[in-house]
Amino acid sequence: MGMILKEETKRAIEKIADILPAERLAADEPMSRHTSFRIGGPAACLAVVSNEEELAAVIRIVKEECAEYMLIGNGSNLLISDEGYPGIAIKLGGELDSICVDDRDDTLVHVGAAKLMSATSAFLTDHGLSGFEFASGIPGSIGGAVFMNAGAYGGEIKDIAETVRVMTLDKCELLNLTNEDMDFGYRNSRAQAGDIVILSATFRLSKDEPTEIAARVSELAAKRNSKQPVNFPSAGSTFKRPVGGYAAALIEEAGLKGYRVGAACVSEKHSGFVINEGGATCEDVLAVMRHVRETVNEKSGIMLEPEVRLINCSL
Ligand SMILES: Cc1cc2nc3c(=O)[nH]c(=O)nc-3n(C[C@H](O)[C@H](O)[C@H](O)COP(=O)(O)OP(=O)(O)OC[C@H]3O[C@@H](n4cnc5c(N)ncnc54)[C@H](O)[C@@H]3O)c2cc1C
Repeated sequence: MGMILKEETKRAIEKIADILPAERLAADEPMSRHTSFRIGGPAACLAVVSNEEELAAVIRIVKEECAEYMLIGNGSNLLISDEGYPGIAIKLGGELDSICVDDRDDTLVHVGAAKLMSATSAFLTDHGLSGFEFASGIPGSIGGAVFMNAGAYGGEIKDIAETVRVMTLDKCELLNLTNEDMDFGYRNSRAQAGDIVILSATFRLSKDEPTEIAARVSELAAKRNSKQPVNFPSAGSTFKRPVGGYAAALIEEAGLKGYRVGAACVSEKHSGFVINEGGATCEDVLAVMRHVRETVNEKSGIMLEPEVRLINCSL
């Protein structure tokens, strides 16, 4: 049975259909196709906007109609309900999938929010620009990485982001926010207040030999592949690092390695990851997460907080 849509959502979808070409608008789109977990029922509609004008137009429509909406990046940190999402999922593409070195300063690079981290890393390596190596193996888009202040191997987006260009959701104003304005914290940023869309980021890098950069990128990729269950769908670390500990260590100490519900389980290879072994539902993952939180809390007194963003579902 299909999802029952609110009238305001239906009206917003009709209006969006007037401004976006049909190939960039999909009704009842299974979100399992757009998440690294391969989980999630249908969104009422997935709209892919290819530039700032289209984004502003879509935002104005959903605001006018008071329709439910959300931004998605590459879906590598999302757990979406089996029922799906009863609103409009907006994804950036086209001109927002851009990257270029600044005209006047060849250590500054402007990257569109839709650009993938892997493609960004390849471009910077080719151009002999160092500083992004830590992020080369993080899945997802630049928009998602800035939103999450993604990080790995001692680096985080905060270390390289000089400015972030955003659109406000209330008035569709364009702003250039500084690193300080972005209020970056551990897996946190100003964008999580939910009132801006990230359009692009400007990164400050330093010059180095492409071969040296490529060697560091490969070294980190080998490290990642040896420690993480990269051959199973997941959303990376399920929980945030708690103060004074590591989620993976606490989970392992609580004897939860391999704990499973349905086809979702705590990875044997890295207990910080919940993986989808094939056909797991959102409810399976939530049941694993609830059990992990309760057990770790009983054993260590620490309540783990999810790093994965829960959409239309809760713990
Ligand atoms: C195998 C694996 C390994 C991982 N390793 C790491 C790691 O080492 N370090 C790490 O930090 N993370 C890691 N992750 C998690 C994930 O890759 C990051 O959180 C990533 O930055 C999410 O980017 P995304 O484009 O996929 O965002 P999504 O998952 O699509 O979205 C995440 C959030 O960002 C918001 N968002 C996305 N784009 C925009 C935008 N343009 N404007 C406003 N809001 C936006 C969404 O609304 C959502 O709330 C891993 C995930 C996997 C699957």
